[in-house]
Amino acid sequence: MGSVRNLTKTLLLGELLTGLGVTLRYLFKPKFTVHYPFEKAPQSVRYRGLHALRRYPNGEERCIACKLCEAVCPALAITIESGVSADGTRRTTRYDIDLFKCIYCGFCEEACPVDAIVETRIHEYHMENRGENIMTKDKLLAVGERYEAMIAADKTADAPYR
Ligand code: SF4
Ligand code: SF4
Repeated sequence: MGSVRNLTKTLLLGELLTGLGVTLRYLFKPKFTVHYPFEKAPQSVRYRGLHALRRYPNGEERCIACKLCEAVCPALAITIESGVSADGTRRTTRYDIDLFKCIYCGFCEEACPVDAIVETRIHEYHMENRGENIMTKDKLLAVGERYEAMIAADKTADAPYR
């Protein structure tokens, strides 16, 4: 009995007509297409994009070279070397993130005890030359300086949920 019903449905093109019905129904509904880059979808304050290293308001580097981010990184994307700075504090002498290895998991940001390494909302970036995938300490600090206002605002907005 079931096979007769299936055969009848096939011969009458029932599934095709059902599909066309769905198409017709959505033809006159508002479209969901976002005309990127002129329109952008909303972003979470927790968006995990390009990394940045932050400074305190007095300009001092936040990072204390504890290497927790390096240890927790599942992709082994972070390389840190440290030394003692002129004022006797421990600081990184090298802080590299390989963006080709990074899987943007956010573990480095979660592990950092001083909110030094963060992932910003920036996702529109590209590389043109070999080696630009390595975000050096200087590049990371430059991103942090440029976007500190946005980073601080996102941290404040997210704080009540942590
Ligand atoms: S986001 Fe994840 S994979 Fe990328 S550097 Fe941080 S811990 Fe490593
Ligand atoms: S960024 Fe944070 S977790 Fe990584 S070494 Fe510096 S202080 Fe430690």
